[in-house]
Amino acid sequence: MAKRDYYEILDISKGASQEEIKKAYRKIAIKYHPDKNPDDPTAEDKFKEAAEAYEILSDQQKRQRYDQFGHQGMNGGFGGGGGGMNMEDIFSQFGDVFGGGGFEGFFGGRQGGGGRRARKGSNLRIKLKLSLEEVANGVEKKIKVKRYVACSTCGGNGAKNGTDMQTCGSCQGSGQVRKVVNTMLGQMVSSATCPTCNGEGRIVTKSCDACHGSGRELQEEVITINVPGGVMDGMQLSMSGKGNVPERGGVPGDLLIQIEEEEHPTLKREGNNIIFDQYISFVDAAIGADIEVPTITGKVKINIKPGTQSGEIFRLRGKGIKDINGYGKGDQLIHINVWTPKSLNSEERAVLESLRDSDNFMPHPGKNDKGFFEKVKDYFQ
Ligand SMILES: [Zn+2]
Ligand SMILES: [Zn+2]
Repeated sequence: MAKRDYYEILDISKGASQEEIKKAYRKIAIKYHPDKNPDDPTAEDKFKEAAEAYEILSDQQKRQRYDQFGHQGMNGGFGGGGGGMNMEDIFSQFGDVFGGGGFEGFFGGRQGGGGRRARKGSNLRIKLKLSLEEVANGVEKKIKVKRYVACSTCGGNGAKNGTDMQTCGSCQGSGQVRKVVNTMLGQMVSSATCPTCNGEGRIVTKSCDACHGSGRELQEEVITINVPGGVMDGMQLSMSGKGNVPERGGVPGDLLIQIEEEEHPTLKREGNNIIFDQYISFVDAAIGADIEVPTITGKVKINIKPGTQSGEIFRLRGKGIKDINGYGKGDQLIHINVWTPKSLNSEERAVLESLRDSDNFMPHPGKNDKGFFEKVKDYFQ
């Protein structure tokens, strides 16, 4: 099924402010909350659809990317966002959208969800510098990160030997207490996180010595990141589950990798194309020559035909950057500049002087000698 436009889902304009996006999402989340629509099987889909739209549009970077590339742009190799948010992810958004206690405090927790919800640890953010060569074809990078993992002594629950704990008396281990709350939708019986155990359902009676009850330890790890070809400066990749484990057990957060593209000394990136400025001598332009130009995969020979004009553009097909969505590869465009000598000795001067009135040296631009704007149009349309 074709995916609906995120703006259309939230019923907002393309230029909507963050506040408008939040408001629109809040409205839809209330309307289609699955607990409020037990008889409507499509409600959950609509609820999830809205959550995904909000996830993307509320993030400046993701939104920009979506605006530029549409849904295609969101699925670049890593699942950088969208596509299959689960209820866990959706509810974790609510702290931001509904403020304070999140959706639960506002609306009453999910019913029938079955007790404790696995808590999610914090995300880890790193920057990853890539050369143009690495960006062009993708690269496997191994990097060291320090992240919280489950304590190896207690197994992550923070209790001495992993066993010195008891079921919470306030909630009988469910992690939730039921209460009546007044909401803008009327009085509702809802469950809220148990304040005694913070929703964990159990209480540690004696803390683990190794982690002092936190249930986690800092560990240095080498993580392999498969960077897809065609990533751009500022783009964010995410590896789910490679962030920090929360205190006393739960689901680890994500590793968020921000791409930084290093500037190449001679090649310039323009979308998926590579631009290179090649200077040739006046003699090579007139008589022709074989020259070597750098590309991201090494030097390539090109033939300069006799009579080559300054400003001509050579195209090396497929020598550009891999498209991040798999639509082939860009090209390398070589922009020819004919070098005019800046100083001449008397001998050179005499030779050129003798050619000054030669008819072949007079400019005779013909139909095929396109001006600058036509060339730009030809190559970038
Ligand atoms: Zn421990
Ligand atoms: Zn409790």
